Amino acid sequence: MPEPHSGVLRDPSCVTLLLAYHCVLPSPPKDNVHILPTALFERQVALMAKAGIEIAPPDEYSAAPANGTHRVGITFDDGYLSDLQCAEVLARHGMRALFFIPTGTIGAPGFMSGPDIRKLARMGMRIGSHSHEHVPLESGNARYQAATSKQILGTLLGSPVEDFAFPGGVSSEQTIAAVHAAGYKRVYTLEWGVNDEANVQAGVYRRNCLVQGMTDAQFMDLVTAKNQVSRQALYKLKKAARRLLPHESYLRLQRWYCGLQKGA
Ligand SMILES: [Zn+2]
Repeated sequence: MPEPHSGVLRDPSCVTLLLAYHCVLPSPPKDNVHILPTALFERQVALMAKAGIEIAPPDEYSAAPANGTHRVGITFDDGYLSDLQCAEVLARHGMRALFFIPTGTIGAPGFMSGPDIRKLARMGMRIGSHSHEHVPLESGNARYQAATSKQILGTLLGSPVEDFAFPGGVSSEQTIAAVHAAGYKRVYTLEWGVNDEANVQAGVYRRNCLVQGMTDAQFMDLVTAKNQVSRQALYKLKKAARRLLPHESYLRLQRWYCGLQKGA
């Protein structure tokens, strides 16, 4: 058994560690590592609750915890129908999360409708944008994707959205600046790691993507921010491979990476 997980982080500069979930399904296909079995998601939430991990409400990601411990924030990408189910699991534990919605697929089969998204907001969940068309942002399209989705969600919710997650986690200095200029206060990548005062100041947050095959011990290492250095190194390796390898080879590497995580 690993050490009891106290949620205490040794690095006092850490503010919030963010998790990024996507879809959950009872029996997800093995070729999409980002879709988690529903039972695994429920177990991870229960593990955090049992260990007393403090879950930061989405409007407090930038607030420094008073007692020197870090907090974990929970986010979801893509606006899948399963978000509703996940929100109910979280609500049972008194946890709130941030849901990033690509506005172009609102109401499409398998995705939440406008009333579904309003229901999440009424449950105390926060809504952010995940662009309009869920395409990688570039300098040419960033302003349009950020502004269009902001306008659609603002109208739907009756209040402005201030959080934006980059589709595929792909961002650059230019696209980050464009999204901020469109009126978002905080933007979110999929770069692994913890967030500290520098992230808060820049309004750019890292998130840690959850994948199939993570053991309970590895999950607890992640949420207690253990092994951050090796995790960050692996992330950089995977990111370089994605850029350099043909897609099929990258998928093989991704499967290997998840298998390695399972056996590690
Ligand atoms: Zn996405």
